[in-house]
Amino acid sequence: MRRTLFTDEHEALRASARAFLDRHVRPRMDDFVAAHGLPRDVWTEAGKQGLLGLSVPEEYGGGGTDDWRFTVVVAEELSKVSAALSSCIGIHSDVVAPYLVELTTPEQKQRWLPGFCTGDLVTAIAMTEPSGGSDLAALRTTATRDGDGWVLNGSKTFITNGGSADLVVVAARTSPDKGARGITLFGVEWGTPGFTRGRVLDKVGQTESDTAELFFEDVRLPADAVIGQVDQGFIHLMERLVQERVGAAVSNIAHARQILQETLGYVKERKAFGQPVGSFQHNKFKVAELVTAVDVTQAFVDQCVLAHCAGELSAVDAAKAKWWSAQVQNDVLDECVQLYGGYGYMNEYRVARAWRDARVTKIWAGSNEIMKELIGRDLGL
Ligand SMILES: Cc1cc2nc3c(=O)[nH]c(=O)nc-3n(C[C@H](O)[C@H](O)[C@H](O)COP(=O)(O)OP(=O)(O)OC[C@H]3O[C@@H](n4cnc5c(N)ncnc54)[C@H](O)[C@@H]3O)c2cc1C
Repeated sequence: MRRTLFTDEHEALRASARAFLDRHVRPRMDDFVAAHGLPRDVWTEAGKQGLLGLSVPEEYGGGGTDDWRFTVVVAEELSKVSAALSSCIGIHSDVVAPYLVELTTPEQKQRWLPGFCTGDLVTAIAMTEPSGGSDLAALRTTATRDGDGWVLNGSKTFITNGGSADLVVVAARTSPDKGARGITLFGVEWGTPGFTRGRVLDKVGQTESDTAELFFEDVRLPADAVIGQVDQGFIHLMERLVQERVGAAVSNIAHARQILQETLGYVKERKAFGQPVGSFQHNKFKVAELVTAVDVTQAFVDQCVLAHCAGELSAVDAAKAKWWSAQVQNDVLDECVQLYGGYGYMNEYRVARAWRDARVTKIWAGSNEIMKELIGRDLGL
C-alpha cells in the first residue's frame, strides 16, 4: 500500500541517510558487533550529514525542524540496517533531544547542543535501576541538596549508549516523601568525579549497542545540572514518553518489514523437493499473512506519526502502537527464521540476528504489559 505521509523533502533526507549508511555503516557492521559498540566516527559522520540534531535549533548546529517526519525517515533507514543502530542513535537524536531542546536554559543549550549535533557529545537517558524499571516512580537514586548544588548517589542499569555517553540525563529522587512528584532530571557529564560505568552488558541481541550499568557515588553536581524543574522530572518524562513510544513503533515495523522483504527473496530462491520453498502453499499463505500484518500495522503507525506531528497523539494510542508493533515484529521475525530453515539459526544470517535483536522491543521503553495496563486503565478497568 502506498504510504502518503512523506513529501519529496522527507524522501531526500531518506536518500542521504541511506547513502551515509551504505558508505559508513553497512560494510562495518561486523566490526561493531565484535566491539560491542559503535565507534565515535560513526557518530561524528552522522553529525556531519545532519542526522543527529534534526529538532535542535539551527543556532546550535541543528536542523531546526519541528516536522517529526524527518526523524521518522532516518529511524526507518537505521532500523533497516540494524535494530541496535536505530536504538543507539534514536536514544540520542530522538529520545534525549526533546529534553535538551525543550527543558534547558540558554547556558545549558550552549554547553550541550553543538556537540550533540556534531556527534562529539553522545547522550543517554537513565531511568531504570537494578531494583526495577516498570515502576519508575519508585526509583531509589537520590540527589540531595548541597549548598547551591546537589549530591547524587545510586545506580542505573540497562542504559543504552551507557558505555560511551558523554552526557546522561539521570532521573533521581529529590524529595523522599513525594513519590512521583519528588523526582528531578539532571544532566550528568562523563568525567564528573564519582560517576563510573560498569561493564557493557552481555545481551541476547543488539550486540553492537553498548548497553551498560552506571554508578553515582557522591557525585557533586552544580545547580545548573538540573534539567527542567526540580521535583517535576516524572512529569517531564511522562510528557516525552509518547514520542519515545511512537518512535519505537516506527523502528519496530521498519525492521520487521525489511527482514520480511529479504525473507521473501530467500524463499523464492531456496529450493526443496525441486521447487522454491515459498511456493509450497503453507509457506505462500504464511508469507501472505506476514505481509498483511506488516501493512496493517504500518497503516496504524503512520496515523500515529501524523497525529504526533499534529500534537494530537494520546499516550494511550502511542501505547497501542508500541506494544502491537513489537508483537507483530517478533511474530514476523520468528516466522522468517522458520522460513530460512537451519540458516535462520546461524548468526551469520541477518535474519537470525534480527530475531534476537527484536526480542527486547516487547520489554523496553515500557513493556507490553505496561502498555496494556495503560490502555486498560483508559477503558476504566
Ligand atoms: C537492551 C535494553 C536497553 C535499555 N535501555 C534503557 C535506557 O536507555 N534507559 C533506561 O532508563 N532504561 C533502559 N532499559 C530498561 C527497560 O526500559 C526496562 O528493562 C523495562 O522498563 C522493564 O523494567 P525491568 O527490566 O526492571 O522489569 P520489571 O519492572 O522488573 O518487570 C518484570 C516483568 O513484570 C512485568 N510487570 C511489571 N509491572 C507490571 C504490572 N503493573 N502489570 C503487569 N506486568 C507487570 C513486566 O512487564 C515484566 O514482564 C533498557 C532495557 C534493555 C533490555
